[in-house]
Amino acid sequence: MNSSSIPQPDSGTAETAPVTTGRRTVYLIVLVVLPVLLPALAVPAAWGWGIGPRDVVIAVVMYLISIFGIAIGYHRLFTHRAFKCARPLRIALMLAGGMAVEGPVTLWTAEHRRHHKYADREGDPHSPWRYGDDGLALLRGMTHAHIGWFFTARRRSSPRHWVPDLLADPDVRRFDAAYPAVAALSFALPAVVGGLWSMSWTGAWTAFFWGGLVRYAVVHHVTWSVNSVAHTFGDRPFRTRDRSSNVRWVALLTLGEGWHNWHHVEPTCARHGVLRGQLDPSARLIRWFERAGWAHDVHWPSSDRLAARRTDPARPARPDRRD
Ligand SMILES: [Zn+2]
Ligand SMILES: [Zn+2]
Repeated sequence: MNSSSIPQPDSGTAETAPVTTGRRTVYLIVLVVLPVLLPALAVPAAWGWGIGPRDVVIAVVMYLISIFGIAIGYHRLFTHRAFKCARPLRIALMLAGGMAVEGPVTLWTAEHRRHHKYADREGDPHSPWRYGDDGLALLRGMTHAHIGWFFTARRRSSPRHWVPDLLADPDVRRFDAAYPAVAALSFALPAVVGGLWSMSWTGAWTAFFWGGLVRYAVVHHVTWSVNSVAHTFGDRPFRTRDRSSNVRWVALLTLGEGWHNWHHVEPTCARHGVLRGQLDPSARLIRWFERAGWAHDVHWPSSDRLAARRTDPARPARPDRRD
């Protein structure tokens, strides 16, 4: 195992643990109902009192923090150990990931490591192919992969099994314990900035609505598109055992995560967009961190590994390209 491999699960513990009805209700509200309801409310709100430039700026900044926090922090750093970094940056990336309101880092990471182990097979928590591959079954599967599984799953991936490395980290334990406060901060922050910027309660409210509520709902759908869309449509230039694929618009919105095919070949790689024209802003930011001396042991792609898994060797890869 090299220094950036995914840490081994704890084989002495069960892979999944039952979820209480209370928790499933919370998941239903936070992960299913509100992300569907809020964008629907945003349309009449935009029609009625509009959205000003201040709210757009606050919402876009909150969006970038949330998505980079998930892509670089929760996903590439904490789940896959694609690089190592200094403690202040680790904590900052964990907090940024928390702004997405997608759960504590241990739970997110546990589910995602199980996804990689069983991708698109029995045991994958969110495969769109779960019910079959004809029209309606696939539609049902995509809904399941997108948000359905949050509520329907009777068992969740057990952090004790999947992330013993994170549970041994005092910073992660503190973050998880403070998670409700972190989630609250994700909504309070845009409200405070909007209020101070406009010096008005109206400014605080509209920033809370656009930069807090609507942004969180959009961030959820964008992130979960990797699970639903980027395991269903798109091209697969690399050989994998699953149906992970590349979808340009998902990659654009997720700041690089939609180049999902190579990611399933080599999950520990810091760059997901490895082919010509595949923009990966998350990898670029990791490269900047590396140049600044904040990140080290970054696992970049190598030309040999890329060539070995190509389905169409005629198409050029850009293994040397780091940023
Ligand atoms: Zn996947
Ligand atoms: Zn992954």
